[in-house]
Amino acid sequence: MVHPLRVITSDTHDEYEKKEKCGLFGVWGAADAATLCFQGIFAQQHRGQESAGIATTDGVTLHGHAGMGLVSQVFSSRILKEDLPGRSGIGHVRYSTTGSSKLCNAQPLLREYSMGPVAVAHNGNLVNAQLLRREYEGHGHIFQTTTDTEIIVHLLAKPTHVEKHDPLPHVLRHLQGAFSLLFLFPNRLEAARDPHGFRPLSIGKTRDGHWCVASETCALDAIGATYVRDVEPGEIVRIDDSGLTSRRFADAEEEGARCVFEHVYFANPASNVFGQNVHLAREAMGRQLARESMVEADCVIPMPDSGRSAALGFAKESGLPFEEGIVPNRFVGRTFILPDQGARDRAVAMKLNIITELVRGKRLIVVDDSVVRGTTTRSKMRALRAAGAREIHLRVSCPPIRHPCFYGIDFATAQQLIAHNRTVEEIAQFIEVDTLAYLSLDGMLSCMDLPDKDCCTACWSGQYKVPIDSPTSKSAFEREQLKMF
Ligand code: SF4
Repeated sequence: MVHPLRVITSDTHDEYEKKEKCGLFGVWGAADAATLCFQGIFAQQHRGQESAGIATTDGVTLHGHAGMGLVSQVFSSRILKEDLPGRSGIGHVRYSTTGSSKLCNAQPLLREYSMGPVAVAHNGNLVNAQLLRREYEGHGHIFQTTTDTEIIVHLLAKPTHVEKHDPLPHVLRHLQGAFSLLFLFPNRLEAARDPHGFRPLSIGKTRDGHWCVASETCALDAIGATYVRDVEPGEIVRIDDSGLTSRRFADAEEEGARCVFEHVYFANPASNVFGQNVHLAREAMGRQLARESMVEADCVIPMPDSGRSAALGFAKESGLPFEEGIVPNRFVGRTFILPDQGARDRAVAMKLNIITELVRGKRLIVVDDSVVRGTTTRSKMRALRAAGAREIHLRVSCPPIRHPCFYGIDFATAQQLIAHNRTVEEIAQFIEVDTLAYLSLDGMLSCMDLPDKDCCTACWSGQYKVPIDSPTSKSAFEREQLKMF
């Protein structure tokens, strides 16, 4: 099932072509909870760079602070110490969806309802949020944000849910799509994962023996915590002063939908996602890519940063030298919007310095993790050509991305995907390379330590495992909200 387009902005940086929608961290019972939350989301900054937030509890009430920008810009040591008291907390980093890069959407969402205060942090995307929101608005509910996450708070506050002995499972059964969630109440932290397990969520223990939860294990490493296990699809894990308990709100789906793009691009290479190290998965994809699409060349060059592990695998398999021919400038911001191709080409030159001595006169195999819109890739290829590359053979460590993602990754819309309705030869022409080859779908899946049936491949295959509520759901939702703000 292929779905229509979403409204997008005109930004053209590759980071904007493939945006993760968030990273989560939570800890219970630690004296320095706010600082641990800060460190936990700081380590996951790659999962969201537009806003950051932390909510803590002192056992009676909740305290929160959130702001636009990077974690280091939003928090100071004074804020962590004075504004976020308590021994437990949750944190969140976020990318906005279109039209929603606003402070009101920063998470954790902190709300007061009939049962007291609650903070909610979400990674993923609810495909039925639009339907639920319309239903609730029809009953007079007023929404304060443009996020899909807010509907969860309204579900929590629904009188027929409040009167249940354990409301959370009832609430979660209403949600469809991708969700890894953290809830902070004054007396407990609850972590839940959708029955398909789209997004990762791991449980760890700090050195002092406190339970913590994170989207990626790199956050556990950052605070010196030990990985214990993943939150299972369909599971709710409750952490309070008595320890950790588990219950289910749904059975895990027989066919899961772990997002393979976490391994291809999003996750930190040091993380173990869905039980598999990300760097090693990418290296295996690079090796497989070499087996599938070797070509005569002088060296293998990675496209920094996310193409590095796959390029290493390609070089090892092919026996060609691995050269760091492109050096990224890590201090070029991600937040500027460029009006024309000339400006975008110049921006690539600002972001990536090419070591001319390594590429001049050479036949290069350039390995990148993915090609989304193609314009950024073309700028990079032009820069290599300008530096004197004799031949450029681009090898991509995933299949052509032909379909949008509705489960928490903000890809460009279908029509703006370079591979949508184009052949590989046409794409090669557009991005101005001598040859172009993608990793096959089977080849990519063979590198995953998961059964094929448990992987989501919708953006490559068009096979959406959770139906979208209506063909225009997400874009319509965004447009509706844009009118309001
Ligand atoms: S569609 Fe692609 S990016 Fe989205 S969840 Fe599935 S594999 Fe991940």
